[in-house]
Order: sequence, then C-alpha cells, then structure tokens
Amino acid sequence: IIKNLCDLKKLTVLGHGNGGTVYKVYHKKNHSFYALKVLRFNKNAIGIRQPATLEAEILKRVDSPYIVRCHAVFDNGTCIEAENGGDISFVMEYMEVGSLHDVLRQHHRLREEVISVLAKRVLEGLNYLHGMHIVHRDIKPSNLLVNDKGEVKIADFGVSHVVEGRFEGSDSNAGTCAYMSPERVDPERWGGENADEFAGDVWSMGVVMLECLLGHFPLIGPGQRPDWATLMCAICFAEKLEMPEKASPEFQNFVRRCLEKDWRKRATVSELLHHPFVKRNWCCSSGLGDYVLQG
Ligand code: ATP
Ligand code: MG
Repeated sequence: IIKNLCDLKKLTVLGHGNGGTVYKVYHKKNHSFYALKVLRFNKNAIGIRQPATLEAEILKRVDSPYIVRCHAVFDNGTCIEAENGGDISFVMEYMEVGSLHDVLRQHHRLREEVISVLAKRVLEGLNYLHGMHIVHRDIKPSNLLVNDKGEVKIADFGVSHVVEGRFEGSDSNAGTCAYMSPERVDPERWGGENADEFAGDVWSMGVVMLECLLGHFPLIGPGQRPDWATLMCAICFAEKLEMPEKASPEFQNFVRRCLEKDWRKRATVSELLHHPFVKRNWCCSSGLGDYVLQG
C-alpha cells in the first residue's frame, strides 16, 4: 500500500535512538498516520549497515498482533560506496500512546492487573519471535509500544539476533545493559557461552514487570548511579530483589521465575504463559485499557 516515500509527510519526531530517528508521518493518499524510522549511514559506519539490514529482514517477516507491524522498508543505501551510504527507512504502524517508558513516566507505576495483561502480551510476542528463532535482545520499556486501544506491542529489532542462522545474522552484542541477563553481562561466571539465548529475553521482561510495579528501575536503589559497574554487580551478584510489600504471591513468584540468575533454572516463555499471574488476567482485556489511555 505504501509505494513511495514521497507520499509521506513528516510531522513530528517521536523518538531518537541509537541508529536513527523515528518520525510521525502522514500518508497523503491513505489519509493515515504511520511511524517512520530512518537509519542513516555514512561512509565510515558501513559496519552498522548489516544489523540494519537484519532489522529490515526481521520486520518484513514477522506478522503478529503482538509485534509492531512494518508496512514497508525502503533501502536507498544499496550503494554503500556512495558518499553518504544512504538510509534505510521503515514505515511502521503508528502507536499513538507511545512507549511503556512514556506511560511509566506519566503514571509512575502500574497496578498488578494491568501488568498481568502487559505480561501476557509481551509473552505472546516473545513466544511468536522465539518460534521464528528470533531473539529480541533489547526488551525494555522504550521498546514496548502502546496504541490507542491500549494494546502493547514489541518494537525495535535493532540488536536482535537470529539463532541457528535461519537467515544471515549479525552477532553484535549490543543492547541496553540495564536489562541484560547475568549470562550476557558476565558469560564466564554464568555459563553464557552455551546459554539458551531466549532466556535473556525472559530476564529482561522480568526486570520490566518489576519496574512497572515499583515505579523505578528495580535492580539498583533509586539513589544509585546506573553506571556499568553498579549495574553489573546488581545483575550478577545481588541476592535479594526489591519487592513491593503488597505484591501478590503470584506476582512475586512470576518475577522471581524470570529473574533467576542461572538461565538453566529460569522459566521459559511457554511456562510463563501458563503462570497463575498471567492466567489470572483480571480485566480480561487485550489491552491496558482506560487506565493507561485516560492519562
Ligand atoms: P533505542 O536505541 O533507544 O532503543 P532505536 O533507535 O532503536 O531506539 P526505536 O526503539 O525503534 O529506535 O524507537 C525510538 C522511540 O521512538 C521509541 O522508544 C518510541 O518512543 C518512538 N517510536 C518508535 N516506533 C514508534 C511507533 N511505531 N509508533 C510510535 N512511536 C514510536
Ligand atoms: Mg528502542
């Protein structure tokens, strides 16, 4: 449906990321809004084209209600010898409410019944991706987007990885270290060499769910500086989890199963989909509901 980048009118900037900028755009012929992610390359950064191509490859193949849809990919950079190397642009469905990071900034923290719905959707998304041999590797609040129906979807495959070479993959070890699993932060100590890569996504999701209930990043104290050394110590060595007193036993168990330091003991996505905390699904809705939408 979207044949030409020129049909899109840039309106505002929705976000800046590592590799590029995301714009809210208007399609003049379809009379609809989309999000346009533009990754820029220059001559000296040819190396980062490969992951970008993988991100495009992944986005073109995934088709799930739990993943942000990509309607078109424009690759103007086939000529990497060119002065500017060119851009890759992704036309994605526009997620009106923004990211879970924005939602948390506004609401400070979420209620358990909302987190239960959120967890279910993220797990369904991960279940789908893992079934396609795709590890997301960057699950964090700013990569979980919310639309005006309150539906949460997984976005941003910038550092994702395809296991077992289903299609050409990059092996970059990037990603936000705050949400990284112990086996990725310290592979030697936590048996990361032969770790099940999918377990890393489960860890990150657990951190996000606990953050939603606490209202701040959970692994370090609110006053602590989130530098690499502090985070690494917290992820790899901290024995106790900060858990809200009023958290239900189901929630506590759910998070503990995700934040099992040893990836061999950590729950899998399919186990978690049957967890009482997720099954409970109090509000029986597919979205976060009025709670999030009303602001
Ligand atoms: P980062 O490196 O910070 O993860 P990134 O360059 O990989 O960022 P994205 O995560 O894809 O880029 O997008 C950055 C931000 O832009 C998101 O956190 C979100 O706020 C906004 N954004 C991205 N895609 C959409 C979308 N489809 N609809 C609405 N907002 C979006
Ligand atoms: Mg991102």
